[in-house]
Amino acid sequence: MNNDFIPVANPKAQNEALKEKLDEAVKRVFSSGWYILGEEVRLFEKEFADLLGAPFCIGVASGTDALILALKAVGTKPGDEVITVSHSAVATVAAVELAGAIPVFIDIDPSTRCMDPSLLSDLVTEKTKAILPVHIYGQPAPMQEILSIAQDHGLKVVEDCAQAHGAEINGKKVGTFGDAGAFSFYPTKNLGGIGDGGAVITNSAEIAGCIRELREYGWKERFVSSIQGMNSRLDELQAAILRIKLPYLLENNKRRREIGTRYCQAIDRLGIVPPRQIEDTLHAMHLFVVECGNRDEFRHYMEEMGIGTALHYPFPIHLQPAFEGRIRGGTDLSYTESLYERIVSLPMFPELTDMQVGRICNALRKWYGKRRTG
Ligand SMILES: *Cc1c(COP(=O)(O)O)cnc(C)c1O
Repeated sequence: MNNDFIPVANPKAQNEALKEKLDEAVKRVFSSGWYILGEEVRLFEKEFADLLGAPFCIGVASGTDALILALKAVGTKPGDEVITVSHSAVATVAAVELAGAIPVFIDIDPSTRCMDPSLLSDLVTEKTKAILPVHIYGQPAPMQEILSIAQDHGLKVVEDCAQAHGAEINGKKVGTFGDAGAFSFYPTKNLGGIGDGGAVITNSAEIAGCIRELREYGWKERFVSSIQGMNSRLDELQAAILRIKLPYLLENNKRRREIGTRYCQAIDRLGIVPPRQIEDTLHAMHLFVVECGNRDEFRHYMEEMGIGTALHYPFPIHLQPAFEGRIRGGTDLSYTESLYERIVSLPMFPELTDMQVGRICNALRKWYGKRRTG
């Protein structure tokens, strides 16, 4: 790797660009003497809720915890089933099991790469409690269809928004459609801390209140546990850092989409399939994932051109050792299984310079030349 190597993600670039403001925020927390659930968390919760257009936000320790607490707060009990996808980060399915529920897998739609709502009704049983769609790569899942099926069967909906901060359907932000939306602030996400963090967004005062208790030992008031809880709190330091970054989120997403558009123009030929544009949705472009038949050769070529690529993810969850062969729906995921061997992620972060994007586009065009003559 040389100095000009372009990585797939680069959280340090953003932290360097905002260094002075971040230093100030860190110092402010340091000298406040209050490090857990204080003013910074309270203000961040309000600012993030306002940006998304939701009345309630509860800061927690990670995106995984946000999913666990959201599932518990909508009433998921041990033995309940939760329908979700295998084409996601393992955290999605781990969270279902950590909430005590049983994941059930549904296949994805080739156009969105999110859950295929036409398959939902067939998977619903009397044990089904909730549907857990993932807005994968920043592409909103078809929430109208999902909500209508949930309503028909009396199911809860928890959105996994870990890759989709600021994504929209018809002008409405994801996370505000279902009963709750779970976000991660892992450093490489569209809104990332300098450490772990997460949040739940909800329109329900009851769900919000329940998560506030669950995240801190089930306390209704200090030292008095009214329900079984845990410890999952967003700390003041992360909240202060996220408050600095939040005002840039939407313009950063716009920059990500611009980069995506340039990639699409460069690969507008046979051979590599770009993500599809879905009408009425605004992509958060967390990852730019293309489909490519001779993927290993392509990745090797890009590496030689000084350009990083990655796999999100190398295996679907139902084929991972911890889950293989034991989850209902895991034998009927033909599109999930046909997709994962073709996907490859190109560099995607807002601090990519126009020159770097140009270099990546040139490399993509040359790859076609190579393929046509080779
Ligand atoms: C990152 C991610 C999570 C988990 O978030 P953490 O903060 O790492 O716990 C969950 N779901 C998806 C789709 C993710 O990308």
